[in-house]
Amino acid sequence: MKLLAERALLPNGWAERVLIETDASGCIVSVTPQAQREPGMESVRGFTVPGMPNVHSHAFQRAMAGSTELRLHTSDSFWTWRDTMYRFAAKIDPAQMQAIATHLYVEMLKAGFTSVAEFHYLHHDRGGKPYGDRAEMSHRLIASARAAGIAITHLPVLYAYGGFGSQPPTDGQRRFVNSADNFIALLESLDAQYRNSPHVRLGAAFHSLRAVDASMMRNVEDALARLDPTAPLHIHAAEQLNEVEECARWTGQRPVEWLLDNVGIDEHWCIVHATHLDDREVLRLAQSGAVAGLCPTTEANLGDGVFPAPAFLSASDRFGIGTDSHVVVSVFEELRMLEYGQRLMRHERAILASDDEPSPGRRIHVAASVGGARALGIHAGRIMPGCRADLVALDSDHRVFWNTELTKILDAWIFSGDSTCVRDVMVGGRWHIRDGRHALDADIGAACRSALTTLLLSL
Ligand SMILES: [Zn+2]
Repeated sequence: MKLLAERALLPNGWAERVLIETDASGCIVSVTPQAQREPGMESVRGFTVPGMPNVHSHAFQRAMAGSTELRLHTSDSFWTWRDTMYRFAAKIDPAQMQAIATHLYVEMLKAGFTSVAEFHYLHHDRGGKPYGDRAEMSHRLIASARAAGIAITHLPVLYAYGGFGSQPPTDGQRRFVNSADNFIALLESLDAQYRNSPHVRLGAAFHSLRAVDASMMRNVEDALARLDPTAPLHIHAAEQLNEVEECARWTGQRPVEWLLDNVGIDEHWCIVHATHLDDREVLRLAQSGAVAGLCPTTEANLGDGVFPAPAFLSASDRFGIGTDSHVVVSVFEELRMLEYGQRLMRHERAILASDDEPSPGRRIHVAASVGGARALGIHAGRIMPGCRADLVALDSDHRVFWNTELTKILDAWIFSGDSTCVRDVMVGGRWHIRDGRHALDADIGAACRSALTTLLLSL
């Protein structure tokens, strides 16, 4: 395939009339700026940027978005929200999961996400027993991604305990719980089934330090490395102050400090949230090569806190963005919140720009595209040979781009744009969004709406 992009953001900056050639697998094989139009080239209008990887998703939580904002306690918090989420998670069946996830993944594509790391812990049936096929829910999520056309890094989650100190799981956690052996068997069966599937990548995750112990983590890491030594590993860590305090009580260390000292945190890891870090943890995490998986709108919605982005970015560009609870599904809103959180705290502007890159929007979009691809274990995130052709074309006719200089295009989208700025979206050399629309638009709404109606009644 030969695409001729009117303007495209390449690793060394914006270029005009960019010929992007892809092979049959959807991988970019050559990129040539200032190309001449020839027969057989497909024109791509507007501003073409790398598709954004979404580093953190719990698909089922999309069905609760917007319905958990009422004040119901004297002090509403992450923990009271979690009780509601457990009640919600207790009800979902596989068909509902698939309907919700398919709709969500189409929304992600329309927002400019081209791949998603699905952090999946809703393994068992509503009674807490494994399905006949332990991977039933995994199959549903992967089927949803394939139907939508988004690339997926599927991350089954090991969740063994209800809290620090190997506490037994509560009723609300029964659907999540596996032994390490059963979990490894699940990984092996998924690997056997999806190893050669295009745009499906397998990794693994530990829910949090509350939910696993050190020997389990080692066993799972070893098992995953036997299947694929490059597979990504993710974990939630240091999202809540209460979690940091509990971890210190049980282990004598803060969560990220404990991970750095007791687990070989390296470039295969994504530490999700990493909100509450002391100065030493910031530096050590940056030096470890791991990606920080930031979810700014969810972290704001749940009252988690603000990631120390300036300190981290001064030592490492390795972060990605995720929509996590999906209170919104938007590339620009995650990046906008990331920068605005810092502005509100520091009373300054353009905080995440750098000496080399004065545009904060461009700096964080580029870093999140590259860091996100690393966290998902995929070759993507840049428009260059060797990367998958995951592309997003922004609508140059949108009013935010009128008379905007090329160097400010990403600032215009992130700080002043809206959901209609994304016009066309390609994953692996195939268009899935054209003029803001997806081929399944007419088909997926009814099933998702019916699932939501049933599930929300049970809240
Ligand atoms: Zn999460």
